[in-house]
Amino acid sequence: MNLALEDHRTFAAGVMGYLDPLKPPRSAYLHIPFCHRRCFYCDFVVVPLGDKASGANGPGSSAIKSYLNLLHREIAVVPEGAPLATVYIGGGTPSLLTPSQISSLLGHLENHFGFQDGVEITMEIDPASFSLESLKGFVDVGITRISLGGQSFDDLILERLGRRHRRSHLLEACQWLNDFYRSGWISTWSLDLIQCVPGMSLCSWEKELNQAIDTSAPHLAIYDLSIEAGTVFAWKQSRGELELLDHDLAADIMRATSSVLSKVGFARYEISNYALPGHASRHNRVYWSGAGWWGFGQGATSAPWGERFARPRTRDTYRTWIEDQEQNGVHPSLEVLTACSMTLDEQLMVGLRRREGIDFYALARRWGWSEEKCDFYVKLFCEFMKDSLEGGLLKREGSRFRLSEPKGMELSNQTLIQMLRWWDSLPQNVVVQPIPAKL
Ligand code: SF4
Repeated sequence: MNLALEDHRTFAAGVMGYLDPLKPPRSAYLHIPFCHRRCFYCDFVVVPLGDKASGANGPGSSAIKSYLNLLHREIAVVPEGAPLATVYIGGGTPSLLTPSQISSLLGHLENHFGFQDGVEITMEIDPASFSLESLKGFVDVGITRISLGGQSFDDLILERLGRRHRRSHLLEACQWLNDFYRSGWISTWSLDLIQCVPGMSLCSWEKELNQAIDTSAPHLAIYDLSIEAGTVFAWKQSRGELELLDHDLAADIMRATSSVLSKVGFARYEISNYALPGHASRHNRVYWSGAGWWGFGQGATSAPWGERFARPRTRDTYRTWIEDQEQNGVHPSLEVLTACSMTLDEQLMVGLRRREGIDFYALARRWGWSEEKCDFYVKLFCEFMKDSLEGGLLKREGSRFRLSEPKGMELSNQTLIQMLRWWDSLPQNVVVQPIPAKL
């Protein structure tokens, strides 16, 4: 495992400025809400088009065309900013669009903001929602990184999750992506899997992990199944028809993930993300560094100046929101500000998700804290977090705090909630304004 290389990349990214919370955003997220169907666990902003959606019912449909028009208008309305270092096209199922639709969106974004040299442009794709030809088309129009929503290699689990694709589709997609990567057509690719799905055993999960390793994906995103309100799973659970894994089995599965992947060279650089050296997602790091990003699309969240802002979740309210900005000026959260408005506690929270954790002093100094003030509150912090520190969940290395791996990462919620309690226990006036951003 080449941690030094990863650390170097993080450092280099910081120097480039796109991870600097006090600088203008250099990242953009575009939300494409269309899917074939809604999976049983998903509470994202999604517009299901039907399992057979394609052609005039898919990318050629008036629903998609009019949505893309709104997306273009939304980009046009925000102030022009710094050239982008990372772009992420997520959803939904962006691979339901055609390469020319993706090209048009990217062109519009580039005209508006500009792209830095070596910009990372990620697109999410789902197995069975694209062909080899369209994949080539996406790469031709500028996609450099692909994130594949595989979720499982087991047909029974895929069916249980309400997914439309099957194992054979996933294997085919992995093969194509691996060929593309080896040919140098994309810089890297990632595979998503879901762990702790009802019906999984430790043995079946280890089999899934080994199959993921066999695909040669250089980046894996492993999410815990969570039951969200309004989903089919939540409904089933309320009727006693969904039996979740017991706590011990779920803990064993999470431990196995970290152990199996670390043995073959993956570094866990964030709670849910594992990468071979040099393959960490630059865009994802933006979210956890506290740096700002633009967000566009129905239900999309942005935080260009630190404060998070979520767009309306329905088509009509999203359209009205854009029309209002076109007539009355940009929404206040999107105006160019002179300082990052993400609070220090939010910065600490998101920062702790990363493998390298947070440099408390460096962060607090940006908020104008003196050395003495840092000393005082770090001492209080250590006293408050005594259990996590002594229990080995949280590690301190000088001024840096990080979750241990695997124990601290697995039980991250426990530590993060404790940290919030610490923050809430501080006097109201503890935080001063952040130092103004250099525009
Ligand atoms: S494909 Fe992804 S975004 Fe679409 S419904 Fe399924 S989980 Fe949600």
